[in-house]
Amino acid sequence: MKLDFSTPSCTDAFMLSAKNSTDSINESLREDERRNDEYWMKIALAEAYKAMQSDEIPVGAVLVKDNELVLKNHNQTNVLGNPLAHAEMLILQEIQKREKFLNGYTLYVTLEPCLMCSGAIILSRLSKLVFGAFDPKTGVCGSVYNVLTDRHFNHHPEIISGVKQEECGKVLKDFFRTKRWSVS
Ligand SMILES: [Zn+2]
Repeated sequence: MKLDFSTPSCTDAFMLSAKNSTDSINESLREDERRNDEYWMKIALAEAYKAMQSDEIPVGAVLVKDNELVLKNHNQTNVLGNPLAHAEMLILQEIQKREKFLNGYTLYVTLEPCLMCSGAIILSRLSKLVFGAFDPKTGVCGSVYNVLTDRHFNHHPEIISGVKQEECGKVLKDFFRTKRWSVS
């Protein structure tokens, strides 16, 4: 059978196939970006598990720049006897020793930041925040309120929420479940 590529139907078929390929490449690129966020969130999750081992509320955070790990830490309010020692605060205070403003930095946190940490995020001019689970009780990056998009403030980091949401929520649920068991 002789194929005639000049027929409109063949051209249409080729264009459709090219479009499908482009769509699939674009799709895979989006997947890669997603995988990057998931990769860093996995490291933040490992920090959350470290917190759990020290009987701390399991929240972990990771600071990244140019796709390189800069700092990682976890909630240490009990260990340090400091109610301000949230994972994000420990990281933001540490980086402040060598960097005044955090342009180009991304902070990954397993749990939606509270008002204190969100205030520190605004003041340090962090470029991007990625968080996992929502915190309907004290989260102010979309749950109770969204301080990071409030036009009254002069810095508005990019926000990505819900990355590895289930795993980030599960570590907290597991922690509080064991606490209830140990109380009863
Ligand atoms: Zn906080």
